[in-house]
Amino acid sequence: MDRKLLSSALDAQNEPAYRADQIWAWLAGGASSWDEMTNLSKELRQSLSKAVPLSTLHATDEAKSKDGTVKVLFNTDDGRPVEAVLMRYGDGRRSICVSSQSGCPLTCTFCATGTMKFGRNLTTDEILDQALHLRRIEDIDHCVFMGMGEPMMNLDNVLEACERLPDLGISTRHTAISTVGWVPGIRRLTQEGGQIRLALSLHAPNDALRSKIMPINDKHPIAEVMDACDEYAAKHRRKVFIEYVMLKGVNDSPELAIELAELLNSKTYKVNLIPYNPTGSYDGSDKDTIENFSAILNGKGVTATVRLTRGQDIAAACGQLAAGKSMSGSISESTSGESSSEASGSTDSGSDSLSD
Ligand code: SAH
Repeated sequence: MDRKLLSSALDAQNEPAYRADQIWAWLAGGASSWDEMTNLSKELRQSLSKAVPLSTLHATDEAKSKDGTVKVLFNTDDGRPVEAVLMRYGDGRRSICVSSQSGCPLTCTFCATGTMKFGRNLTTDEILDQALHLRRIEDIDHCVFMGMGEPMMNLDNVLEACERLPDLGISTRHTAISTVGWVPGIRRLTQEGGQIRLALSLHAPNDALRSKIMPINDKHPIAEVMDACDEYAAKHRRKVFIEYVMLKGVNDSPELAIELAELLNSKTYKVNLIPYNPTGSYDGSDKDTIENFSAILNGKGVTATVRLTRGQDIAAACGQLAAGKSMSGSISESTSGESSSEASGSTDSGSDSLSD
């Protein structure tokens, strides 16, 4: 909800400012209509419903995977696409993945969003409205900024949204920001982010390879990024997650696993190997290669898990969010097979929540 618009609508009707808090409490609790807000008079509810839309976003499509994952495609008021995902896990966790920007200014070569035109930063309300939409479906308890965009390049709005997530049931400890390694943002998160978890999309253990697949590495090379992450871990006494997307024949050799293990201090980092969702230019590593890579890291004392992929049948997995055009109909229940990594039983469901 556009909270500025709400304030001015309340002002215009000489309503006290605390009405805004009452309305927020309803929204954060999952209300999906003004009618539910029974501590407001009927007249007020009616006039507000004309003056203030319930959300800044318009849900244009929703797809539900066999595994329970729900992906929602929205448009902003100015027609920019935004996507968010609700992931349901067997242990009861309900995790949401939200976007911080429409499109992305960075051009990681393997990422579908990177191939889209950058739109703009999302406002705090647009970030929160993704979460509120998913909150209306059911209770939620974890949030990751792993949708479209680079959250560290929109950190004011991302941090402001994070402050309100506890009202929706998501504690700050259960909120994670994932970054390409935008160093000024990492340093600011260290100072101002409280308990927010940091995840780094590393994807390569040396500068030559990383610069090839992630051009941002030319601006902030690995040593500088790791320095900033070390500082975060030292200040918060909390491990940093390393995301490593497994690209066949590119970054998945045993030699690179050894190099990665040597780069990472096992007390500070935990590796999450991500099976690649092919979006064009690369193939994903096969299961044995991923397991071998993981075994090498673990053998060298660096904890590594393989991410449980969710919503593959509806293109809801990381980096596929821009592939939303493939959705059709208002709610599509997919009938394709289970995600391969889940079926293999080789995954760690706990890793997705970025919990300790
Ligand atoms: N810009 C931030 C957050 C968004 S991307 C970041 O890069 O961390 C969230 C994660 O999905 C990143 O680790 C990204 O590298 C990964 N990703 C991108 N495309 C992917 C794909 N096709 N398959 C699997 N993971 C992908």
